[in-house]
Amino acid sequence: MIVKPKIRGFICTNAHPVGCAASVQQQIDYVKAQGSLNNPPKNVLVLGSSTGYGLASRITAAFAGDANTLGVCFEKPPTERKTGTAGWYNTAAFHAKASDAGLYAKTLNGDAFSKELKQQVIDTLKADMGKVDLVIYSLASPRRTDPETGEVYKSTLKPVGQSYKTKTYDTDKNLIHEIALEPANEDEIQQTIKVMGGEDWELWLDALSEADLLADNCKTTAYTYVGKELTWPIYGQATIGKAKEDLDRAAASIVKTKADKKVQAYVSSLKALVTQASSAIPVMPLYISLIYKVMKEEGTHQGCIEQIYDLFTDKLTQTKPEVDELGRLYMNGKETNDATQAKIKALWDQVTQENFHELSDYAGYHHEFLRLFGFDLSGVDYDADVETLIDW
Ligand code: NAD
Repeated sequence: MIVKPKIRGFICTNAHPVGCAASVQQQIDYVKAQGSLNNPPKNVLVLGSSTGYGLASRITAAFAGDANTLGVCFEKPPTERKTGTAGWYNTAAFHAKASDAGLYAKTLNGDAFSKELKQQVIDTLKADMGKVDLVIYSLASPRRTDPETGEVYKSTLKPVGQSYKTKTYDTDKNLIHEIALEPANEDEIQQTIKVMGGEDWELWLDALSEADLLADNCKTTAYTYVGKELTWPIYGQATIGKAKEDLDRAAASIVKTKADKKVQAYVSSLKALVTQASSAIPVMPLYISLIYKVMKEEGTHQGCIEQIYDLFTDKLTQTKPEVDELGRLYMNGKETNDATQAKIKALWDQVTQENFHELSDYAGYHHEFLRLFGFDLSGVDYDADVETLIDW
C-alpha cells in the first residue's frame, strides 16, 4: 500500500508503518546517546505505552535502563484495506528493537479501565516478569466504562464556572478565529473526573498490590499538565484540570494505602507538546505553536522523549526525588516561568490570521503532528509501496 496522510479535523486517520518505526528509532537513538540511567527500574509497567509520553517512558526505561517492560494500549490493528493506528506500528517497532537488544517486552492491547485487562496484566507479570518497581500511568482517553457498574463516562473539554471567549487556530481550515466555550455543568465535570482523574490509577495499584506484584519502594507516576494564565481557562481551571486535581488526591491515597510496600506515588507535571491527546484540545494548537517558537528561540524546546529522559534522570531514578510545593515532580518550568510566559502572551495578543505563520512556529507544530502518524520523517520514501499488515 502507498500511504499518504489522511487528515480529518484534529486527527490523522491512518499511519505509516515505516515512518512510525523511524520515529521510534529516533527516540531510541536519543536516549542511547544521552547515556545509561543510574539506578534504573528493572521491571516497568507502562499504561498507555503506544504513543506520546507513555511510549517515550517505555523507550527510556528499556533503552536507557535495560528494563523489562510490559505495555498496555488501545490501538487498532491493520486490515487489508486500512492501515493500523500509529500506536500499533510504534508498538510493533518497539518490540522488534527490544527483541534485537535482548530486552523482554510484551504489550497487551485492550481496555485498561476493564477488570479483564488488569487480570491479563497480573497473569503476564506472574508468568514472565515478577514484581514491578515502576508503574507509569499515561492514559489519555475520551471515555471510560466503569468496571463495576458498566456505566460509560465521557470527558469534556469545557471551562468551569463561566463561559470563555478566546482565540483559537483551526488546523483544518487554517483559520484563526474566536471561540466561545460554554461552562460545563456539574455532571460533565464529574464525568471528566471519572475518565481522566485518579480512580483508575488507584484501581491499578490496588490490583497489583492484591496480587503481591509491587516491589518494595516501587514508584508510580501519573502525568499532568499544569499551565499558566493562557491555558488555565481551558485546561488548569477547566474540566480536565479538575480531573487532574483528582490525581493529587489519588497519589496521596496510594502512598497511604500502600505504606507496607513504601510505594512512592507522584503526579508528574510535563510540558505541553503535540500528541494525539493535546491536538484535540481547543486553543492548544495555537498555544503550542507559540511556545514552540519562543522555546526554540530560547534553546529550551523539548519533545516527549527529551522531557521523559529528564524525568527519569532528575526524578524517577532518585531515591527521594525533589518535589514542588504540591508534592509533584515538576518538569515544565522552562515553559511556565514568568519570562517565557510573558513572551508567549505578547505573541498571543498580536496574533492574527495574517501574521500567524510568521509569529508562530506552526510549521514546527504541523511537522510534529505529522510525525505522530509516521509522516514527514526524513529518510522515509513516502512514494514506496509498504507492507501495512504488521503484527507484533
Ligand atoms: P496520547 O494520546 O499520545 O497517548 C495515550 C495512550 O493511552 C496511548 O498509548 C493509547 O493507546 C492509550 N489508551 C487510551 N485509552 C486507553 C484504554 N482505554 N485502554 C488502554 N490504553 C488506552 O497522549 P499523551 O499526550 O501522551 O498523554 C498521556 C498523559 O500525559 C495524559 O495523562 C495527558 O494528560 C498527560 N500530558 C500530556 C501533555 C501534552 O501536552 N500532550 C502534557 C502534560 C501531560
